[in-house]
Amino acid sequence: MKSYQEMSNDDLLALKAELEAQYKAFQGKGLKLDMSRGKPSAEQLDLSMGMMDVLNSSTNLKCEAGIDCRNYGVIDGIQEAKELLASMIEVPADKIIIFGNSSLNVMFDMVSHAMTHGVLGSTPWAKLDKVKFLCPVPGYDRHFKITEYFGIEMINIPMLPTGPDMDLIEKLAGEDDAIKGIWCVPKYSNPQGITYSDETVRRFARLKPAAKDFRIFWDNAYSVHHLYDDDQDVLIELVTECEKAGNPDLVYKFTSTSKISFPGSGVAAIAASDANLKEIREHMTVQTIGHDKLNELRHVRYFKNLNGITEHMKKHAASMRPKFEAVVDTFDKELSGLGIGEWIRPKGGYFISFDSMEGCAKAIVQKAKEAGVVMTPAGATYPYGKDPKDSNIRIAPSFPTTEELALATELFVLCVKLVSIDKILESR
Ligand code: PMP
Repeated sequence: MKSYQEMSNDDLLALKAELEAQYKAFQGKGLKLDMSRGKPSAEQLDLSMGMMDVLNSSTNLKCEAGIDCRNYGVIDGIQEAKELLASMIEVPADKIIIFGNSSLNVMFDMVSHAMTHGVLGSTPWAKLDKVKFLCPVPGYDRHFKITEYFGIEMINIPMLPTGPDMDLIEKLAGEDDAIKGIWCVPKYSNPQGITYSDETVRRFARLKPAAKDFRIFWDNAYSVHHLYDDDQDVLIELVTECEKAGNPDLVYKFTSTSKISFPGSGVAAIAASDANLKEIREHMTVQTIGHDKLNELRHVRYFKNLNGITEHMKKHAASMRPKFEAVVDTFDKELSGLGIGEWIRPKGGYFISFDSMEGCAKAIVQKAKEAGVVMTPAGATYPYGKDPKDSNIRIAPSFPTTEELALATELFVLCVKLVSIDKILESR
């Protein structure tokens, strides 16, 4: 098979005419599909409906410590919820604090607190002339929005197949004490589905940042979100690694059950060193009289233990797997060898990342929209919404049905081909 670059202008024009006819046919179908946000489908939400039955008016609503969960009290989470979430993210239960319904909210608060009060006695970041964050790219748009909101300058760090470029991170963080943190989604990363290698995690644990108040924001959102039973990525546990490396305070590790139970109605948590947790508890006592213990109880009584979560996630995988495969199989079949795009086949998480030829992503997303398929805006996976190469597109396959997704992917591939042909012809 010839790549598009190897084809003559005449051949490309003939192909374009053919593809345009197919595109017009798609426009005639009046599609209304959304591949833009990583929301579970209704089918996935149905998997957790049993959770609605575990608490009712005759249930004993005391936690194991005998505390009435209907009332105020227990600021940092009931013990059994700590044990459940700690086992899920592989930390000891005394290294975790349970929060409310959203981990993103906790991340925002941690940055906000550092801005106004500093980190373990450091100068509040807002009092410094300049504060910077390292941002592995492509990455999660809502992370970048938090740092943008606080006026923190963001520096792109390229993602490699092993995780972010550690040479660059060690160099930049080691030299510049204005660099105060880094955003990481270390397992089944958003959007590429990459899991950081053992070596990458160990280099993070041994990092020697110039700023003492530098923190790794380790967003372990997809720790149990595998697609396959027999082919799963493994991530080394960073809180313990940091401790072993003599760097215990370096990391804040976040998690939540948003994409396990109900997004927006799950349970979030943070794991960190004793010193970090002590500081977090201090500001927490000002912020709230306690989080939703009934929801903590509901999650514990429903899932029971890590095994309960693992079995539940197999059901999610069964729903998600055909969708991921519908997209990636179509890419393999329709785009392999054409030299107009690259993609990764993820083994878990919520997204598929597609890299078009440089300068094509915005046009592809626009073209898909004009035929009724909404994608995440091109550029969203980069700080400030600016992809310097205009090439990355995040695909979220969970929400539509497999049939809808197959159709939307067919259209997407068509848009990639048409925009690439125009780009190549333009450059000749
Ligand atoms: N982190 C990542 C990497 C995500 O993709 C998402 C969105 N699903 C979140 C955090 C948001 O999590 P939460 O619902 O716990 O705020």
